[in-house]
Amino acid sequence: MEEKILKIKRYPDAVLRKRCVKIEKITPQELALFKDMLFTMRAFKGIGLAAPQVGKACQIIVADIGDGPIKLANPRVLKKRGEDRMAEGCLSIPNVDVTIKRSFEVLVEGLNEKGELVEVKAKGLLARVLLHEIDHLRGRLIIDHLGLLEKMRFFKTNRKTRNSLIPSLNLPKIPFY
Ligand SMILES: [Zn+2]
Repeated sequence: MEEKILKIKRYPDAVLRKRCVKIEKITPQELALFKDMLFTMRAFKGIGLAAPQVGKACQIIVADIGDGPIKLANPRVLKKRGEDRMAEGCLSIPNVDVTIKRSFEVLVEGLNEKGELVEVKAKGLLARVLLHEIDHLRGRLIIDHLGLLEKMRFFKTNRKTRNSLIPSLNLPKIPFY
């Protein structure tokens, strides 16, 4: 089956605020979603993507920071360690980047493509991507990490640029998840 480029849902689409349902079993439908999500993520030059971003409120994420794809269903953080700050972008919220404090190292558990429970150890950028995607599954977005003043600025700018296609800032430097 050929991969498809899926449509990326953008803020404020309601699906981005949904609490995503657990995957009961990995079926051909989930396998196709893993494949299409990775394809879509790469097409948009992202390094991670969560199912609600393509309109599916289920617990599936993909990531690839350059050392191979990660595909997980029902991802759950088992352990966290350290702390790190870095700017993040999100494919669902164009033209916005937010510096977010997250754990530097994580141990994440989830189902792989074969339906086996596996553990993924990650640090640095990969840990950050996984945490960003797991946030998506709970309806949590990068703008939720903004302080009050920054939030006001975001909503003001967002209103102004809602119907405009002019890309702002120097976003290509910031990774998109
Ligand atoms: Zn995102």
